[in-house]
Amino acid sequence: MKLAILTSGGDSAGMNAVVRAVVKAGILKGCETWVVREGYEGLVRGNTEALAEQSLDEAPVDLSDISASTDRNSNNLIHNLRFGDGDLLKDGTGDHPGTRSLKGRYIVRVGFDDVRGWFAEGGTLIGTARSKTFRTQEGRLQAAYNMIKEGIDALVVCGGDGSLTGADVFRSEWPKLVEALHAEGRITAEKASLHAHLKIVGLVGSIDNDMSMTDLTIGAPTALHRICEAIDNINSTASSHSRAFVLEVMGRHCGWLALLAGVSGGADFIFLPERPPTSDSWENEMCECIHRHREVGKRKTIVIVAEGATDRDLKPIKAEYVKDVLTDRLGLDTRVTTLGHTQRGGRPCAYDRVLPTMQGIEAVDALLEATHNDPSYMIGIQENKIIRVPLMEAVAMTRAVSEAIEAKDFEKAMSYRDPEFKESFIGFLTTSTLEQKKLPSEQRIRVAIMHMGAPAGGMNAATRAAVRYCIRHGHTPIAVHNGFRGLLDDNIHELSWLGVDAWMSRGGSELGTNRTLPSVDLGAIASKFQQHQFQALLMIGGFEAFNSLVILEEGRKHYPAFHIPMVHLPATISNNVPMTEWSLGSDTSLNALVDACDAIKQSASASRNRVFVVETQGGKCGYIATVGALATGASLVYTPEQGMDLDTLRRDVRFLKTRYTLDAKGRSEGRLVIKNEAASGVYTADVMTKMLKEEGGSLFDARSASLGHTLQGGVPSPLDRARAVRLSLKCMAFIEREHAKLLQQPVKTRHAPPDSAAIITIQSSSLKWVPVQEMVAHADMENRRGKNPWWEGLKELAESLAGRPQLVGLH
Ligand code: ATP
Repeated sequence: MKLAILTSGGDSAGMNAVVRAVVKAGILKGCETWVVREGYEGLVRGNTEALAEQSLDEAPVDLSDISASTDRNSNNLIHNLRFGDGDLLKDGTGDHPGTRSLKGRYIVRVGFDDVRGWFAEGGTLIGTARSKTFRTQEGRLQAAYNMIKEGIDALVVCGGDGSLTGADVFRSEWPKLVEALHAEGRITAEKASLHAHLKIVGLVGSIDNDMSMTDLTIGAPTALHRICEAIDNINSTASSHSRAFVLEVMGRHCGWLALLAGVSGGADFIFLPERPPTSDSWENEMCECIHRHREVGKRKTIVIVAEGATDRDLKPIKAEYVKDVLTDRLGLDTRVTTLGHTQRGGRPCAYDRVLPTMQGIEAVDALLEATHNDPSYMIGIQENKIIRVPLMEAVAMTRAVSEAIEAKDFEKAMSYRDPEFKESFIGFLTTSTLEQKKLPSEQRIRVAIMHMGAPAGGMNAATRAAVRYCIRHGHTPIAVHNGFRGLLDDNIHELSWLGVDAWMSRGGSELGTNRTLPSVDLGAIASKFQQHQFQALLMIGGFEAFNSLVILEEGRKHYPAFHIPMVHLPATISNNVPMTEWSLGSDTSLNALVDACDAIKQSASASRNRVFVVETQGGKCGYIATVGALATGASLVYTPEQGMDLDTLRRDVRFLKTRYTLDAKGRSEGRLVIKNEAASGVYTADVMTKMLKEEGGSLFDARSASLGHTLQGGVPSPLDRARAVRLSLKCMAFIEREHAKLLQQPVKTRHAPPDSAAIITIQSSSLKWVPVQEMVAHADMENRRGKNPWWEGLKELAESLAGRPQLVGLH
């Protein structure tokens, strides 16, 4: 298959990662790959006739230096992979030695290395445009001609709903366009029959997260990072001067950025296009809400306005006007900050590297599997599952949101958004406002909240959300400091609404963590439960929290105090809690790893060819190393699950030698090897580094870097914060449900069922509660990790994208 990829509409972070993944996966699956510069405009312009014959096909790939150890078989593979200069498109001029000028060429054949290192770049390196010509049939006829001339009949489009609609129009019209080209004598009958159908697949590149039927669009997480960074910075000034800030963020028809920024940034009030304030006077509603916050002692006020926000009569709500209202009515010193294009750009966050990579690979599979009768697919994501959905259904639903807004049917608009959107909105109201919805007194609960194990990003955000939920519903949130050890020392206190206000953006653990298990003295722990009248327990932490829950549930046989709802919310950078695909903190640590590796890679290629052996934490769980390798484009990854042996190391050294031999002359390249700290007790990072240094000879040097505790991250990532709020509120709802069931039993003989001690998990496309005893069967208790983790196959994938299996003849 000859496939091409283009980026279209507004640029977004992660588009380069999509191009990289599609090109690499395409080549690995035997396709010829092309990029189209400047979106649909490039497709229409095509390649100038005189230059058309000069494809990259003939660009010399110098194989003369390949080390003698590389066998014939892998040499052929190298030819197929078309390793080339690797910088063909970076500056758009193609003026490097060994590359051809791109002038007059919009459809460019690319090789494996042409997209190397594209991960870390924001925007789109192949350019994007809004093409008027492509909107005309004439333009599309020319585009079809240009594609057929190159032999291409499979197209990946990464853009917004407009771009995907354009792709679908193009595909449905294709047979007619081919017929017309043949009738005009521009293509032969043979070509017409060879290219009778066009295959397309869409990927959504949009910072607004405005596409229906997918949880996230490419670029939206990075934009959210930019906004949260701004809010975190503004927070300190706002607090110092007791000021109010009104932030305008992007989102013409979709309030996702404003909503998630509101949730993750701990804002006081938000304005979204699809959910205007409900009262007749939003000014009163906002002022009452903020006045209440100020009355309880809040020193800062953050209001977020989506650029497309309106009132219920569709009258735009503008940041300047919001500022005037706050100044005039509440006398607040108020400033406006419009984030504008700063939200769009910058280095992609970890999620905008992993998601486009997985989706790009899925896009190639979808093209290879496509038949003429299938609808065109859009690649999306639901929780943690990459999905294919009929492209036009997703576009139609997206449009329906805008239409519902225009028709002032806001309920309908909200109903078309994915369930997470609605949950986030409720999460915002629950955690940001002082509004009370107290339950009848007998249903109110004393909830103990505890952090366990090592700190992880999002722990404090989860606690903040639980505390605010408790206060809203009339429960009593009790902090247990320093885990079970702290409980034994009566280190507990009641938490307040204001007391947790700033916890959203705080890293570490405000409650303090401890690894002591309740088995240290189960009887004493039970008596402390009784003494403090705990009626429910929320544990936020990693494998220790799971282990503790096992012990407490078993302890129910002997201690009535444990016959209460007990939940575990997984939070650990190791992501080693069984059965859940994500834990709080895993996104923060992935971002810390990506930041560190970007800097290391830069330094590694600054002077001469250098391999960096980067050691990660993670205990005996290879999650952070594996997904980190995928997110940073590391060449090799070593995990405790797979271990290390001499045969593999020998092949890996050969791979690195071959790889450096194939690099463009005169360029220095940095490469990463990511190794989990427990991958091997013998082949340590130090041994590996010395070995690579020795073997690299004149080809490459080696250094090591241990990321250690930096991976626990400073400030939690926005996704960890948002996920913390969502999951924490679900935990509280679970506790209420289970408590209500227990209320039906006589107090003295209350017997909590086993499934009232459970862990909230993310499994593929859904959230699931797993009773703790059921989880035990899925746990490798000795190595403190789950069995069969979802990311195990990603090691091979990451190394494939670096070319390892092909270069050592392993695939
Ligand atoms: P963003 O979300 O950033 O606005 P988008 O993909 O929705 O991205 P648009 O400007 O709507 O951006 O579309 C990008 C390009 O897609 C257009 O310039 C045009 O070339 C093509 N396109 C959009 N709609 C159509 C259509 N109905 N028919 C043909 N081409 C279209």
